[in-house]
Amino acid sequence: MKSYNIKTFGCQMNEHDSEVLAGMLEAMGYRSTEDAGKADLVLLNTCCIRETAENKVFSYLGRLRRQKVANPAMIIGVCGCMPQQEGMAARMHQLFPHVDLVFGTHNVQQLPVFIDRILAERKPVLEIWPEAAEITEGLPTVRKEGLRAWVTIMHGCDNYCTYCIVPYVRGRERSRGPDVIVREMAALGRDGFKEVVLLGQNVNSYGKDLKYPMDFAGLLEKLDGVNGIARIRYMTSHPRDFNEKLIRVIARLGKVCEHFHLPVQSGSNRILKEMHRGYTREHYLSLVEKIKFYIPTAVITTDIMVGFPGEDDDDFQATMDLVKQVRFDSSYTFVYNARPGTPAAEMAEQVPEKTKKQRIQDLIKLQNSVSMEKNKEEEGSRQEVLVEGKSNIDPGLVYGKSRGNKTVVFPGNIILTGAIAPVTITRAHLAYLEGFIEK
Ligand code: SAM
Ligand code: SF4
Repeated sequence: MKSYNIKTFGCQMNEHDSEVLAGMLEAMGYRSTEDAGKADLVLLNTCCIRETAENKVFSYLGRLRRQKVANPAMIIGVCGCMPQQEGMAARMHQLFPHVDLVFGTHNVQQLPVFIDRILAERKPVLEIWPEAAEITEGLPTVRKEGLRAWVTIMHGCDNYCTYCIVPYVRGRERSRGPDVIVREMAALGRDGFKEVVLLGQNVNSYGKDLKYPMDFAGLLEKLDGVNGIARIRYMTSHPRDFNEKLIRVIARLGKVCEHFHLPVQSGSNRILKEMHRGYTREHYLSLVEKIKFYIPTAVITTDIMVGFPGEDDDDFQATMDLVKQVRFDSSYTFVYNARPGTPAAEMAEQVPEKTKKQRIQDLIKLQNSVSMEKNKEEEGSRQEVLVEGKSNIDPGLVYGKSRGNKTVVFPGNIILTGAIAPVTITRAHLAYLEGFIEK
């Protein structure tokens, strides 16, 4: 039996795409191996959101050169966001002639055909589709985790934030029909999954392209009724399309968790406009107020970028003030990185690296102190924790996630895995909460 190894770079969306790639390979009779050095097929599912992500792929491909020399029959493939950029597939072929297969984000379903062709002809295959076709449903999937499943509800992004490469490599927004999503989720419930994470670059614009009226709130209503699944999460929300109706629906639905990941990017109206985000600081703050009004215990997290072109000290200060005002439970922080082909890469006034470095350090320091305060506020509270397994802090402890998506550790037996345990929080740490199970 032939073996495969998939190395995934980037976000959850790529992780989930790799589950589909694995599904197709296993349907062809390949089996998974952890050891890329011994695999018959190595596939790199790539990310191009920042240059560092691309550099990791280049150096990994360089390392694979030696393995290919030792084992010429081995197939090396590259797919995902990186080759979807204009000219990148040809560049990869030129720099890394030992790569046998290059394809993009729009023709993933062709993987089995490509492999058969390479095995038959022993010639490299480079095939990038410039645009997405209809969504291919029903591809086999091998899910990595046993409790939490990712489910794509829409592909692509129409927002064209001026710094971001995603719309260029993932194509226009395309929503999957609600009925196929319901069926997929019901099957996951039957297979023993407890939690589903709905994936899309901007889940709030779900349904806009469907031929009948359907929106994200409507989809959540349908999914909340699916048996077997105990929790529903989603990512990522866009503040421009988030509204009070959706907050009220989330507050009412029992399975949809009270965790709002709402990327703000900047606290400065001037920068938000340059980023083409389509909302103001005031709109964002009003959303946060509404979330806290309807769901006082809501956990609110965000993505923040520093060093966008033209960001001056006042703009950065506005971001710091926003962090203090909202009091995010946590945030993913990013240093702006120019992506060729995006409008921001052409903007004058690129911020010096030294300034960016100082700003990210200041931001992380502030966020850590706010996160610690927020976690401390959970001491004494009772949290429903979906138990995921044994904690690596101590063999007598198990860990899981609260509805707010915080990691909680507590004394317990591994047989609790998959159960929802009522846990009283006794101690806060920056990255997790400690507690004990209520008798
Ligand atoms: N669709 C989501 C949204 O609108 O928030 C985000 C998807 S993107 C893959 C995740 C994060 O990467 C963004 O929120 C942004 O902060 C960061 N990001 C995107 N482009 C970037 C760039 N050129 N440099 C640095 N960070 C970037
Ligand atoms: Fe990128 Fe903006 Fe689309 Fe998010 S919404 S993927 S940041 S273009």
